[in-house]
Amino acid sequence: MWEKKSGILQYEINKRLALRRTGVGLLFWVITGLDFVVCVLQVFNDPIHGHMELHPLLVKIIDTPQFQRLRSIRQLGGTYFVYPGASHNRFEHSIGVAHLAGQLGQALKTKQPGLNITDRDILCVQIAGLCHDLGHGPFSHLYDGMFIPKARPGNKWKHETASLAMFDHLVKCNKLEDVMKQYGLNLSEDLDFIKEMIDRDNDKDQEWLHKGRPKDKSFLYEIVSNKTNGIDVDKFDYFARDCYHLGVQINFDYHRFLKFARVCEVDGWKHICVRDKEEDNMTEMFHTRLCLHRRAYQHKVTKIIETMITDAFLKADKHIKIEGTGKKTFRLSTAIDDMEAYTKLTDAVFEKILNCAFDAPQELRDARDILRRIINRDLYRFLGETRFEDPTEVCTNVFVDVVFLHFSIILFENMKTSFFPTFLFFLCMTSLCCHYSEMYAAFSVVRCPGFAQCAFLSSWSGLSVRRLMTGIRRLTWTTFNSGAGQRTFQSIR
Ligand SMILES: [Zn+2]
Repeated sequence: MWEKKSGILQYEINKRLALRRTGVGLLFWVITGLDFVVCVLQVFNDPIHGHMELHPLLVKIIDTPQFQRLRSIRQLGGTYFVYPGASHNRFEHSIGVAHLAGQLGQALKTKQPGLNITDRDILCVQIAGLCHDLGHGPFSHLYDGMFIPKARPGNKWKHETASLAMFDHLVKCNKLEDVMKQYGLNLSEDLDFIKEMIDRDNDKDQEWLHKGRPKDKSFLYEIVSNKTNGIDVDKFDYFARDCYHLGVQINFDYHRFLKFARVCEVDGWKHICVRDKEEDNMTEMFHTRLCLHRRAYQHKVTKIIETMITDAFLKADKHIKIEGTGKKTFRLSTAIDDMEAYTKLTDAVFEKILNCAFDAPQELRDARDILRRIINRDLYRFLGETRFEDPTEVCTNVFVDVVFLHFSIILFENMKTSFFPTFLFFLCMTSLCCHYSEMYAAFSVVRCPGFAQCAFLSSWSGLSVRRLMTGIRRLTWTTFNSGAGQRTFQSIR
C-alpha cells in the first residue's frame, strides 16, 4: 500500500531518488497525498561542453542497460584504427546532444516568448537528443551502412529504425512511463513527439502529419535532426567532439549559433533561422564537415579496415549467438529484430571473434584471421579511387570506373604472369576512360609483383595519350562536400 501510494517508501530504498525529494515534498505528501518532485539537476563534466546540468528524467534514461550500451559503441567505427585519439563512444555524444538541445530550446524560449515553448517541449526535445543514436550497432555506421546491406540485402533497415524500437523497449523495460508522468510529460502526445523527432521524413511542402506537436511548433523538430538544411545540434556535438578527439582544428563556433538563432516564418512554415552576418560561421560549419569527411570518415585506411571488419562479420554472422526475448537465439545480422538481443550487441563482438576457440567452425576462424590481419596491420591493399570534378558526373563515372576496376582485378588475378596483355589492357582503358587515372596508386601493391609495374607504366602511358588527346585536365579534389557516396574504392584482398 505504501509503495503504491507514493514515493515515500522509495525514499527509504532508493538513495538516488531520495536526493530529489525534500522535506517540503514529504510535508506536501502528508497533507495532499500527492507526490511532490523537486528537480535537482545532475551535473556531468564533459571535455567538450564543460559542466552540463541534466534533468533527473534524462538521468533516469541514462541509467538503463539500453543507454549504457552506447558506452561500447565507437562513435567513429574503424577510424579508431587510424587515429589513436578517436576512442570516443556514442554514449558521451548522446549526452552532449541532449545538453545542446536543451540550450537551443532554452535560448529560443527566452528570446521569443511568443513561440510559447514550454518546459515540457524542451524536456521532450532533450529526450529525443539523448535517444537519437540508441539504435547504432557495432562500429556505428559500419553496421548499418556496410554490414546489414550485405548480410540482409533488400532490408531497408537503418539505425534510426532501431533507435525508435530501442526507445520503446527502454521505456517499457525500465517502467519509465510512471516516472515520465511524474515529471509532467503527457504520454499520449509526448512519446509520439519524441519518436517523430528521432526519425522523420522531410515534410516541406506537405501537410502537417505529425501527431506530437501542431504545425506552429514545427521548428522544434529542427533542433535534433534538421531535415531542411542539416544544421542541428547533433552535428554541433559530433563536429566539436570528433575534431577534439582526432586532433583536427575546428573554426565553427556553435555558441554563436545559439546566440543568433531565431524562429522565422518562411513560406508558411516556422523554421530556425540565423542572422545574415552569421553566414561565414555557417560556411565554416560545412567546411568542418568537408574536412572531417576527407581526413577521417572517408579516410582511405579507415575504409579498408571497415571493409575488413565487414568481411569478418559476414563470415562470423551465423556463428555469433545472442540470446533475446523468450530465450530465442539471434545472430549478428538478425539481432536488429529483437531489442533484448540487440542490447547485448556492441563493439565487443570484435574481441569475441578475435578470441574464438581453436576448434571453432571454419568460417569463424576465417573471420578471426581477417581481424588478426587488422591487429597485425596486414591490411587489404588500396588499388585506386575515383575523384570527380562535377557532382553531376558521379553516376556514370562511378559506373565506368568500378566496372573497369573490377575487370582489371579479375584480369590481373587470372593473368599474373603475362605482362603484355595486361599492359595493353590498362593502356587502352586509361586512354579511353577519361576519369580513371589513378592506377598508379596500385604501385603499392607489393604482394603481387609485376602488377604494380604494369599498372604504373600503363597508367602513365595512358594518361599521356589522354593528355595529348584532350588537353591537360586538372585532377582536383572538389566534390567531397556531401561526404560518403561520392568516392569509391576497391581493395585487393
Ligand atoms: Zn548523433
